[in-house]
Amino acid sequence: MSNTISRRAFNKLLLYGLAGSSLFMSGAPLLASARSARVVVIGGGFGGAAAARHLKKLDPSISVTLVEPKKVFHTCPMSNWVLGGLKTMPDIAHTYNVLRNRYGVMVLHDVATVIDPVKKTVKLKGGRVLAYDRLVVSPGVDFIWDAIEGYSRQAADSSMPYAWEAGPQTILLSRQLLAMRDGDSVLISSPKNPFRCPAAPYERASLIAHYLKKHKPKSKIIILDEKEVFTKQDLFMLGWDRLYPGKIEWRSASVGGKVERVDPAKMMVSTEFGDEKGGVINIIPPQKAGRIAADTGLADASGWCPVNHMTFESLQQPGIYVIGDAALLGTMPKSGTAANTQAKALAASLVASLGGRVGEEHNLGSLCYSLIAPGYAISVAGTYAQRPEGIRDNPDDIHLTSTEATTDQLAGEAEQALHWYNNISQDTWD
Ligand SMILES: Cc1cc2nc3c(=O)[nH]c(=O)nc-3n(C[C@H](O)[C@H](O)[C@H](O)COP(=O)(O)OP(=O)(O)OC[C@H]3O[C@@H](n4cnc5c(N)ncnc54)[C@H](O)[C@@H]3O)c2cc1C
Repeated sequence: MSNTISRRAFNKLLLYGLAGSSLFMSGAPLLASARSARVVVIGGGFGGAAAARHLKKLDPSISVTLVEPKKVFHTCPMSNWVLGGLKTMPDIAHTYNVLRNRYGVMVLHDVATVIDPVKKTVKLKGGRVLAYDRLVVSPGVDFIWDAIEGYSRQAADSSMPYAWEAGPQTILLSRQLLAMRDGDSVLISSPKNPFRCPAAPYERASLIAHYLKKHKPKSKIIILDEKEVFTKQDLFMLGWDRLYPGKIEWRSASVGGKVERVDPAKMMVSTEFGDEKGGVINIIPPQKAGRIAADTGLADASGWCPVNHMTFESLQQPGIYVIGDAALLGTMPKSGTAANTQAKALAASLVASLGGRVGEEHNLGSLCYSLIAPGYAISVAGTYAQRPEGIRDNPDDIHLTSTEATTDQLAGEAEQALHWYNNISQDTWD
C-alpha cells in the first residue's frame, strides 16, 4: 500500500469515525437515556463546535448550548494559504447555522466570563447565567504577550501581527506582505514547544516564499526559532531547497533564533546575536491555554490543563471537561484534527456517563498537511490510544511523507489536504 493511499484511508477513519472505535464504526445507536441533561460547551472552534454537534448527533434529547463570541469563525488551517494568495478569507469562513438549524444546538454569541464549578453555572459577559450538568471547555490558546520585551497585543494589532488566530490578524499580515518593498526581509519568530500547530510556522514561511517568488523576487524570509529542531524538518528543508533556494533562512535558538526584544516603531527584532530589521515581522508568541481555563483554575503551572486521558475530565476541577489545544494530552499535538477526534470521543463518553454507563476506550488521531507550494504538500499522521494509564502514541501507526516521494505523490498530498479541510469543516460547522 502506498503512503498516499494509506493516508487517504486514515483521513476517512479520523473524520468519519474515530480510528479503531467500534462505537462509531458500527454506527450502533447510543441509548438516549439522559432526557433532560444540560451540556454547556465553551468555545465554537475545532473542539467545541465538533463536541456540540456530535453530542446532538448521538443523543438529540440532550440540551446542548454552545457559547462562542464570533458569528463567523475563520479557521487557522488554510489561513497560510490565504497569505500565499491561494485562498481568500471567505474560503475559510464558517457560520453556526447548521449547528443551530440542523442539529438543534442553542448557539449563544457571547463570552463565558465566570465558571462556578460548585453551583455548576457559567456566567456570560452579556449577563446570562447558564446552569449545566456537564461543562465542556475548548477555548483554544492564549498568548504570553510579555515573553518578548517590547511586544504586546497593541503591537500585534498595529505593526507586528502574530496571526495565530485567523481573522483580522490574517488580513493585517496579508496587507503588509502586499505593501512591503521588494528586497525587504520577512521575519517570522517561532515559539518554544508546546504551541498550536507545530508545523504551521514552516508552512507559513513556505507559502509566503511562494508569494515572494512571484511578486517580490529580491525579498527573503528569516525564521527565528526558539527551538533546535522542528517537525517535518527534513521534508520542509528539502522542499525549500527545491522550490525556494536561498529564499528561506532558518536560525535555531543556538545561532541567534530566540527573539528577546522587539522595537515595533523601528521594525526591529533583537536576539543575543544582534539586531535584525524586517519589512514585515510576524511574531508568534509562546502560548498557554485560553484565558477562561486559567481563570477557572483548570490550568496548572505549565499553563495548560491536565485532564483524565480516558474522560477528558479536568484533574483540577471535577465535572469540567477540557479538549483541544488547551488540554494536556500526552504527546498529542495541538491540531484541529486532534481536537476533532477528542470532541467525538468526549461526546461518546458524556452520553455514556449521562446514561449511567462507562465510556469506551478510543483511538484518537492527528493528521497534519503542510503545503509547501501549489501541488506540493507533505504530511504527518498518527493515532493515539486512549488508556487508563494515559494516552499513548501507536508507533506502528505513524505515517510521514517519504523524502523519496515522487512529484505525483506530493501533488496527491496537496489534493488530500483540500479534501481533509472540506471533510473536517463538514464534520464541524458546515
Ligand atoms: C496558521 C495555523 C495553521 C494551522 N493549520 C492546521 C492544519 O492544517 N491542520 C490542523 O489539524 N490544525 C491546524 N492548526 C491548528 C488548529 O487551528 C488548532 O489546533 C485548533 O483550532 C484547536 O481547536 P480548539 O477548539 O482547541 O481551539 P479553537 O479552534 O481556537 O477554538 C477556540 C474557540 O473558543 C472561543 N473562546 C475562547 N474563550 C472563550 C470564552 N471565554 N467564551 C466563549 N468562547 C471562547 C474562541 O473565540 C474560539 O473560537 C493550525 C493553526 C494555525 C495557527
